[in-house]
Amino acid sequence: MRLKDKVAIITGAAGGIGFASVKRFLQEGAKVVLADFDKEQLDLRERELNEQGFNNFLTSVVDVSDRKSVDWMVRETVEAFGTIDVLINNAGITRDAMLTKMEPVDFQRVLEVNVAGVFNCTQAVIGQMLEKGSGKIINTSSVSGVYGNIGQTNYAASKAAVIGMTKTWAKELGKKGINVNSVVPGFTETNMVTTVPEKVIESIKGMIPLRRLGKPEDIANAYLFLASKEADYINGAVLHVDGGIMM
Ligand code: NAD
Repeated sequence: MRLKDKVAIITGAAGGIGFASVKRFLQEGAKVVLADFDKEQLDLRERELNEQGFNNFLTSVVDVSDRKSVDWMVRETVEAFGTIDVLINNAGITRDAMLTKMEPVDFQRVLEVNVAGVFNCTQAVIGQMLEKGSGKIINTSSVSGVYGNIGQTNYAASKAAVIGMTKTWAKELGKKGINVNSVVPGFTETNMVTTVPEKVIESIKGMIPLRRLGKPEDIANAYLFLASKEADYINGAVLHVDGGIMM
């Protein structure tokens, strides 16, 4: 029960990594807000959790790129659970194309969700955390943001920005008792990589010293650790959970 009675918002909670994290956090005693854009998927996830006997959670349909929608989600959270202890900024999208083919609208949208979304959610919860002088914020970057990736100008830029925001907030908020860290997933088995051809997946596996893709649970465990008391002295860290792919 490493998160007993802690209130955690997980964005992108209906997706692969997000939902694995929801289950992990609930198992560890947290009260969890599943925040996601995809209402249909969120309803399915809600049903699954009910069937498994979990009841300490709330679902909230939110577009993280829309500040009003985020403010509403935060209000709902505080009304239901009274406070916010942990924010996992996990929602993210890709709109891949080579530089010469990338539509400006796709460049813009990825930044709105992956960068402004992280800013919106963090700014919306920070008042709650500052008031009580504690909190854990975990931002999801990507190996693309650290090393770049062909076809991902928008995504790589957005995920590099996530690391910049993490380090800045670690400096601004550390003295207020709030820890801000970033997790850098490598290739992880979710919808985000299901469109990648099998041949490419095999060659990626060949580049990973551990010789397998990440599982959503691998990332969920990193979120859990950084959200727990065990990580109280970790701040501004960029934790790679990528099987050592770019080492
Ligand atoms: P996923 O597509 O399974 O889940 C992403 C979730 O975010 C979806 O449920 C989607 O509905 C939600 N979402 C999208 N736009 C949103 C918005 N505007 N507001 C609220 N929710 C929104 O992908 P995943 O692999 O679980 O990704 C989780 C995070 O991990 C993302 O930030 C992603 O960039 C990052 N990541 C994933 C991989 C990978 O290989 N899967 C690698 C590196 C980083």
